Amino acid sequence: MTTSPTLCISPSANRLTQDQLAQRLLNPGFGRVFTEHMVVIPYQDDAWQQGELKAYGPLSLDPSTSALHYGQAIFEGFKAFGQDDGSIKTFRPQANAERFNRSARRLAMPDLPVERFIEAADELIRMDRAWVPRNSGESLYLRPLMFATDAFLGVRPSLSYLFVLFASPAGAYFANGVHPVTVWISEDYVRAASGGTGEAKCAGNYAASLVAQAQAKEMGCEQVVWLDAAKREYIEEMGGMNLFFVSRENGKTIVATPELSGTLLPGITRLSVLQLAKDLGFEAVERKLSVTQWREEIADGRMTEVFACGTAAVITPVGHVKAKGFEMQINNGQNGEVTMALRDALLNIQHGKAPDRHGWMHSVC
Ligand SMILES: *Cc1c(COP(=O)(O)O)cnc(C)c1O
Repeated sequence: MTTSPTLCISPSANRLTQDQLAQRLLNPGFGRVFTEHMVVIPYQDDAWQQGELKAYGPLSLDPSTSALHYGQAIFEGFKAFGQDDGSIKTFRPQANAERFNRSARRLAMPDLPVERFIEAADELIRMDRAWVPRNSGESLYLRPLMFATDAFLGVRPSLSYLFVLFASPAGAYFANGVHPVTVWISEDYVRAASGGTGEAKCAGNYAASLVAQAQAKEMGCEQVVWLDAAKREYIEEMGGMNLFFVSRENGKTIVATPELSGTLLPGITRLSVLQLAKDLGFEAVERKLSVTQWREEIADGRMTEVFACGTAAVITPVGHVKAKGFEMQINNGQNGEVTMALRDALLNIQHGKAPDRHGWMHSVC
């Protein structure tokens, strides 16, 4: 672990003892506990400067910091997994780096070279490797972000930015095991419109979703299902996860997900599930699906399972759907067979219990 022209390594002066570390790792939940280090890389004078891997801690910001006002802020999320042989690997970090840059371009922010994104993650994980949980279903969640740092109130792209990467040990997302969620189809609010920022992982998209999420909660649901902005008819995604629909037609099992229309977030789990569905012998398709079709196919029994997928919660079955004027149950509110087979297939690759046929795992240490 040495300082390079791109990354200066300054370990924290106050390391936790083994006991303190064990205490923090006991029941990490999700996104509450952070490791001892972080990486920061400043962008100024039209270039990314040398970064620093240093003690995790608060950032100091000018009140006029432009991201706080006009929202030039993007993020990513991916995971590192402990393998049975003691090594640590990340899942598709290159895909996250590339999506980070697509988000950056949409918000008029500079690209970060993919190698620097991956170097930052690899060095942080090596430094904090004791924080990578070892139990199945657990992982170290990596959170990269970038925001505008100009201390200036004019509305224009900032000239300076900060890339930050930190890590958070993640327990099983659902404390009581995988269970189907109840979802609310949002008709009052939309997540993204054509030409907007739906494809970008930008902070503002989440801010705009919170009031819909609150409405879902009032209706007794855990998550929101987003519809297209123009017709409020086609299904887009669920909260911060992509949706899949499993149906049986002419003896075939079809695993379908809404096609990328320019408003959906192109999930890396979504892409992986499409591949795994083929690997397991299912037919994987990307297509439009309307709420009307969804109701019909559930009613006539063609559609047997629905699930959502994303990095944080992996794969989550959908058991109940509520909307203005109707309600329906899916698979008797139980975890579905195809859903769980896909979930196991993905987790087995991530934990090194199944061969990595598609070269998705990146060796860190
Ligand atoms: C991050 C995200 C997803 C899932 O993407 P993954 O790469 O699979 O984690 C889906 N929808 C939204 C809105 C997201 O922000």
